[in-house]
Amino acid sequence: MLYSVKFTLNHEQDTQRFAQILSQLVHSGIIYLIGDLGAGKTTFTRYFLQSLGHQGSVKSPTYTLVEPYTIQGKEIFHFDLYRLDNPYELELMGIRDYLETLDALFLFEWPSKGGNEIPKPDVVIDIQKSDDELTRFVTITVNSESLYQTLQEQLHGA
Ligand code: ADP
Ligand code: MG
Repeated sequence: MLYSVKFTLNHEQDTQRFAQILSQLVHSGIIYLIGDLGAGKTTFTRYFLQSLGHQGSVKSPTYTLVEPYTIQGKEIFHFDLYRLDNPYELELMGIRDYLETLDALFLFEWPSKGGNEIPKPDVVIDIQKSDDELTRFVTITVNSESLYQTLQEQLHGA
């Protein structure tokens, strides 16, 4: 069973607030970030990591494929698969070792490029730009009913 919540981000501060909310609710597992170039996937990730207490820079891992973080003892891996030509490259870069990290959280930009090398998601965040590129339409899909209900309350609540 999948549950979706839809909402609009009118300013980057809205994206920051959304990232803050999610960072308090999702502590491990697999998050997919879907959307065109410039949709705000990396921006979301930056706010997510900062919300957990990360103070350094958050670079887009477009060329490195992955940037690892340890924040308050928790391991977080930010992948960007945009430049991946073949999912098999993930085997060669040792993705299995990353995936075996206990209690880790994984954020994947461009998960469609990973084929079967990356696990199924616990959370999917789809970000679409409006035609004037000012607004973002977000659909977050989760497979936990309790997480869905909390998101409904926090994202649509007063
Ligand atoms: P992606 O990783 O999806 O390719 P980025 O996060 O790198 O996209 O870039 C998104 C760009 O859009 C940034 O320059 C950011 O400042 C801008 N932006 C404008 N409004 C928003 C918003 N509501 N949420 C996220 N980014 C926004
Ligand atoms: Mg990006």
